[in-house]
Amino acid sequence: MIELIDVEKSYEVDGRAVPALKPTRLEIANGEVFGIVGHSGAGKSTLVRLINRLEAPSGGRVVIDGEDVTGYGDEDLRAFRRKVGMIFQHFNLLFSKTVADNIAFPMKLAGIYSRAEIRERVDELLQRVGLTDQARKYPAQLSGGQKQRVGIARALACRPSILLCDEATSALDPQTTQSVLRLLADINRELNLTIVLITHEMDVVRRVCDRVAVMDAGEVVESGPVTDVFLHP
Ligand code: ADP
Ligand code: ADP
Repeated sequence: MIELIDVEKSYEVDGRAVPALKPTRLEIANGEVFGIVGHSGAGKSTLVRLINRLEAPSGGRVVIDGEDVTGYGDEDLRAFRRKVGMIFQHFNLLFSKTVADNIAFPMKLAGIYSRAEIRERVDELLQRVGLTDQARKYPAQLSGGQKQRVGIARALACRPSILLCDEATSALDPQTTQSVLRLLADINRELNLTIVLITHEMDVVRRVCDRVAVMDAGEVVESGPVTDVFLHP
């Protein structure tokens, strides 16, 4: 479970603290697909970057699977981040590495997996995302949907319990979006993976999310089951 307990975040701008996220209380259950919507600058990325502790909160506590990660230092964070995968709008792949090497990269960085474990895991992930035949290609040779599949496989490499998606389908055409969402839904179901998904596309929310939070000016202004939030004004 993801628990944000009165979490807030300010950034220092010209010597004064500007709030990006006002004190927020939010719980996301294991296995849930949770959507975050809102205008640009509403605080969506800040909220998500607090969950994987890419940002340190200015106040409050971040508790993941019962572990308070608020005060974690570099060493603890390195281990913790293996539990949290992330995918991005522009995929953030390494263009000088093959598909297989991109997927292997987080496992190599972790330094806790044998070469045999990495090879086996990469094969399994290639199969899961349907890219076995593209293993030796480079990202530039792939379509957008295929690149995001590499991003998903890479995010899953270290067997995270949480997957964070920041506008993961925003650069894709509608048909490719559908197939990537179907893949995410399968992964959610089969691995009981918790998915937190930032999007500006309402269709994405309706299609895959269980619950949704609407953010505005650094606050969650509404949250609940998708049908409640979007059917009742
Ligand atoms: P969203 O993801 O909804 O577009 P963000 O979380 O990126 O919103 O940003 C929320 C607010 O925090 C915005 O006003 C943004 O300008 C500000 N902000 C985000 N990151 C930084 C940063 N590193 N330094 C200063 N201000 C930031
Ligand atoms: P370096 O170039 O620092 O030696 P690598 O060759 O291993 O590192 O791969 C990182 C390179 O991948 C970066 O230099 C960058 O040009 C490219 N890259 C990574 N992510 C992206 C991205 N989202 N869009 C474009 N290029 C990217």
